[in-house]
Amino acid sequence: KITVIGDLLYDCFIWADRLPRKGETVSGYRSGFFASGKGGNQAAQAAKLGADTFMIGKVGCDERGEILIHTMQTAGVYTEFITEDPKENTGTDCVLVDKDGNNAIIVAPQANSKITVEEVRRARAVIESSDVLLSQLQINEEAITEALTIAHEAGVTTVLNPAPARAIPKCYYELADYITPNETEAEFFTGILQKDYSENEWIKRVTEEYHKLGAKNVILTLGEKGCVYAGRESRFRVPAFPVEAVDSTAAGDSFNAAFCVSLASGMELREALAYANAAGALTASKHGSLPSLPDKDDVTEFMKR
Ligand code: ADP
Repeated sequence: KITVIGDLLYDCFIWADRLPRKGETVSGYRSGFFASGKGGNQAAQAAKLGADTFMIGKVGCDERGEILIHTMQTAGVYTEFITEDPKENTGTDCVLVDKDGNNAIIVAPQANSKITVEEVRRARAVIESSDVLLSQLQINEEAITEALTIAHEAGVTTVLNPAPARAIPKCYYELADYITPNETEAEFFTGILQKDYSENEWIKRVTEEYHKLGAKNVILTLGEKGCVYAGRESRFRVPAFPVEAVDSTAAGDSFNAAFCVSLASGMELREALAYANAAGALTASKHGSLPSLPDKDDVTEFMKR
């Protein structure tokens, strides 16, 4: 059983030959609306991989919110702890994409930043009976702190995906059993830049710095290079599954959810990371976010190849 606390976003995409300049209107040739959000993607991924998955989140009292909740339910997520804010709109983002795949994005988190401590406490029993609690950083800080604290005190394994990168309270390092930055996030949190070092030296320095910050177990995701685990005692790399990547959107979400599902099922760490790499690779090999998430059979089949 997994509890995901996080954001739900309504994505509006428009594709055009080029991005507009300030004040300019350009004609696009395609548009689409998608259910998304790191929290939503991660919850949907955990459910698709067969875990009993509860999500704590917040939408507005509007049609977009209803669509997001419905989408989560269709993916198999239990949604009774997704609340509706009477005053805020559902979190929404607009993504403009040019013909080369460059984009410009505006995210309005709205209801996502209004999750109250009381709302998190209402999910206490579910958090305490979960195997793993997973959070990211796209919702308000006090909600994350409360969820991590409840889980930590109950001995529930906690995984913090520090995305999108922003300053975090020091206590998160203590409350999170695993922290899972990608390369950009690792640079943000440690201030150690990849361009200044060889790959192995950068990984060593970044993970050591994370330990100095108080992190226990660091899992650094490295895109097509797989991931590195660094505990205080040992460090090892788990290679990626080679795929033809077409769109890495949500690969990190898929990785994080799959990692939590495998931890919850009692897999040993290396095996759990290989499973997470397989889910991430499959997601990177398909377009979109939610539609690209693999189910349990997809991952099992893929790993046999
Ligand atoms: P994010 O999506 O957060 O930027 P990464 O790019 O590090 O995170 O991807 C997360 C994980 O997804 C990687 O650790 C890897 O397991 C998998 N993955 C991502 N891109 C690829 C790729 N091109 N080929 C194979 N696996 C990939």
